[in-house]
Amino acid sequence: MGHDGLARVKREIEEAARAAGRDAASVTLIAVSKTFAEADIVPVIAAGQRHFGENRVQEAKGKWPGLRRQWPDLRLHLIGPLQTNKTAEAVALFDAIHSIDRPKLAAMVAREIEAQNRRPQLFIQVNIGRENQKAGVDPDGADGFIGLCREGHGLTIAGLMCIPPADADPRPHFEELARIARRNGLTGLSMGMSGDYEVAIEEGATQVRLGSAIFGGRG
Ligand SMILES: *Cc1c(COP(=O)(O)O)cnc(C)c1O
Repeated sequence: MGHDGLARVKREIEEAARAAGRDAASVTLIAVSKTFAEADIVPVIAAGQRHFGENRVQEAKGKWPGLRRQWPDLRLHLIGPLQTNKTAEAVALFDAIHSIDRPKLAAMVAREIEAQNRRPQLFIQVNIGRENQKAGVDPDGADGFIGLCREGHGLTIAGLMCIPPADADPRPHFEELARIARRNGLTGLSMGMSGDYEVAIEEGATQVRLGSAIFGGRG
């Protein structure tokens, strides 16, 4: 795992991109390092990986500041839910936030962007499978929420993010996310995890978020 896993997924991303008639450079690989320690992460950085994903602000605050001093070109992505009381820390720490999903959070993020003069890339999370327990805006409310973020809060939105239902064919969900993005003029699609990233790339993913395929199981 670690750098071997990285080499393997990079080859597979290239193959999937080629099969889809896409340039592999149009797919950003985010190595999801949540629950893994610095000792597991360092070999992956040393092998050239620069984008990393964490799902908790607190955990990221403990792990990343030291690594970023050593490798200033690292890019850190928040891929997990963001509580409004952590917004200031998240805007200060992350280069991208993939979980913008409600009006209050959009307002708080806008305020912190202004206050800190930092501009993380922002993705709106869509609850693409319309699952009760899952975060994200309802697909039917996505156009309205994107408009609110842009016009109401002056946010620049990079794209959409989703986590399809666990036991379903992900393809129709990736297709729907791509449709919502297209009709809103958004080019970023953060979709695809270890189990389904090849399909996601076929359906237009620009950011894939891979944890276990690189680092192994989280136990
Ligand atoms: C954990 C996580 C991932 C990575 O999952 P793997 O199946 O290990 O690749 C991707 N996206 C989100 C939002 C996650 O929480």
